[in-house]
Amino acid sequence: MAFELMKLPFEEAALEPMISAETISYHYGKHHQGYVDKLNELIAGGKYENTSLFDIIRKAKGPTFNNAAQVFNHDFYWYGLTTEKTSPSQTLLDKIEHDHGAMEDFKDAFVNAAASLFGSGWVWLVVQNGSLAIKKYENAQTPIKDGLRPLLVCDVWEHAYYIDRRNARLEYLQNWWKLINWKFVSDNFSAKEEDPIIGYTL
Ligand code: MN
Repeated sequence: MAFELMKLPFEEAALEPMISAETISYHYGKHHQGYVDKLNELIAGGKYENTSLFDIIRKAKGPTFNNAAQVFNHDFYWYGLTTEKTSPSQTLLDKIEHDHGAMEDFKDAFVNAAASLFGSGWVWLVVQNGSLAIKKYENAQTPIKDGLRPLLVCDVWEHAYYIDRRNARLEYLQNWWKLINWKFVSDNFSAKEEDPIIGYTL
């Protein structure tokens, strides 16, 4: 069974001027597609050929893990973006304020984590021991491997912003923040433990 590239939930130019169509065309059309193709190549005829994506993420190592994790991480990243005006549910907002102070403080903490991650990686908002935690993961690492339910992710690999912002990662982060799909984040927060994550069963 071969994996397929997910369909983007918006048009390539929809996020302009925050993220350009050219960036999306490379990030989704080349990088994300590349991880899907590479994963299919790696599992063909092998022991993971008929394994679910999450099981591959949990069990595999090396390139197979890296490509499987990057497929999921990017899927989750795209679903977290929208140009529609969304806002956090009251329960999520209460939780953010309880765990992180005001929304502005939470934003600063998240953006600072993303700005200070050295090299390539991802910054995730997850639920850990009942609290909202901001976590930095290097390279392809993903909270799925740790059994944590993600709510939101920011891709801080250079390919996510270099076409638009060159080395100005902070500029990318400020623009990315304006695109957060708070309905998606809120739905993830209110999901039950056993609910699938963007269609992937646990
Ligand atoms: Mn990426």
